[in-house]
Amino acid sequence: MDFAHPPETQALIDQLEAFMAAEILPRARPWREAGLAGEYPPFIGEIQAGAKAAGLWNLAIPNLPDDAPGTRLTNSQFAPLAEIMGRVMGASKAFNCHPPDVPNMIMLADAATPDQRRAFLGPLLEGQTQSAFAMTEPAVASSDAGNIATTIRRDGGEYVISGRKWYISGGKAADVHLVMGVTDPDARAGRRQSVIIVPANAPGIRIIRPSTFLGFVEPGAGAYEIAYEDVRVPAANLLGSEGDGFRLGQVRLGPARVHHCMRAIGHCETLIELMLQRAQERRAFGQAIAEYDSIQHMIARSRMELNQARLLTWKCAWALDQSDWKAARQDVSIIKVAVTETYQRIADRAIQVFGAMGGGADTPIADAFAWARALRIFDGPDEVHLRQIYRFEPKPEGLLKDSPHIMPQE
Ligand SMILES: Cc1cc2nc3c(=O)[nH]c(=O)nc-3n(C[C@H](O)[C@H](O)[C@H](O)COP(=O)(O)OP(=O)(O)OC[C@H]3O[C@@H](n4cnc5c(N)ncnc54)[C@H](O)[C@@H]3O)c2cc1C
Repeated sequence: MDFAHPPETQALIDQLEAFMAAEILPRARPWREAGLAGEYPPFIGEIQAGAKAAGLWNLAIPNLPDDAPGTRLTNSQFAPLAEIMGRVMGASKAFNCHPPDVPNMIMLADAATPDQRRAFLGPLLEGQTQSAFAMTEPAVASSDAGNIATTIRRDGGEYVISGRKWYISGGKAADVHLVMGVTDPDARAGRRQSVIIVPANAPGIRIIRPSTFLGFVEPGAGAYEIAYEDVRVPAANLLGSEGDGFRLGQVRLGPARVHHCMRAIGHCETLIELMLQRAQERRAFGQAIAEYDSIQHMIARSRMELNQARLLTWKCAWALDQSDWKAARQDVSIIKVAVTETYQRIADRAIQVFGAMGGGADTPIADAFAWARALRIFDGPDEVHLRQIYRFEPKPEGLLKDSPHIMPQE
């Protein structure tokens, strides 16, 4: 076992840390203020150009097409880089490593036709356009993809999309929507849905209102409720074949979940650093609060739990590199629950250490708490992942099953 990064990954880590220190950390405050308004900062284009020129571009797409700008990295190589980007919420946008674009690009790279690649994937890979993935619906429990009710109906050379979605990240700024809906209600479960590519300027798309969570808009992308009212697109816009929707959803959700966890670890490092600084500066009852065991324990527990979360995440990244999202399903569900719970606990402790200021607008702590809480719902609520973890747990066999000394036999 070797926890040291290979030299080429270490070189990228050093380069990325230097870029973050020079270009992003000094502008973390305006970055965050724009994020709280559901936007990216006005200087994002300039920073993206610098990141692209430095070769820090499209690092999160293992199936990056050969002719695309960027570096094809494994999940294990990307893990420490995502963590560094995660230290400032939304910073991954600078490197075109941001959701929902990255999982959407992975899905397009998996299934798009050559024409679809040229029209939709190419501009995303260049950072010229933005995208949204529209699955969740207000009218049905959307953690069960089988419930999705938006219809995608074939009409001659076109498909007609009708339905309502909400909590769609990037739904307002997106140039292209990847919409999940039903193409064949009579097909067997798992083959009823499809994904269709809908340009944002297609007539019939109506942005209804922002979808907030705990009063926050999603940092950067913003999430929106959207109506698709008889939206017509060419039949050639179907991604893959009719009935591929469930499989395509899984292709994109695996990396989406793992990258969220990787970035959350970086944000937890920021929270621990903030706690350490505040605890040393703030004095109560005659001493720095860092002198109190209770405060030290909060920081120590945060460090222990964060290191555990990181090891689980690296293991999951490695498992994904060995095969694909199918074989790594249990590992992905484990980190989706474990890392997001850790993130929420660390954000909660940071609020406690900061006192009232921890819940205010002057630090990123309250945003972290809201985001950690949202992460326990989106890309699959905890309960769905716990169920998945249980289902993949091998049933007792071998030593335990056959030993009357361990398990009494009838
Ligand atoms: C900030 C944010 C961004 C989002 N971005 C997007 C996006 O870009 N695109 C998109 O399509 N969606 C997005 N979502 C929506 C998100 O993916 C859904 O909210 C999520 O899948 C859950 O669906 P639901 O809200 O319909 O909850 P429901 O399906 O109604 O579930 C409600 C609750 O039921 C319980 N439950 C469900 N299933 C089980 C089970 N098997 N066992 C036990 N309990 C269960 C859980 O407690 C769950 O929280 C986003 C959400 C947020 C908060």
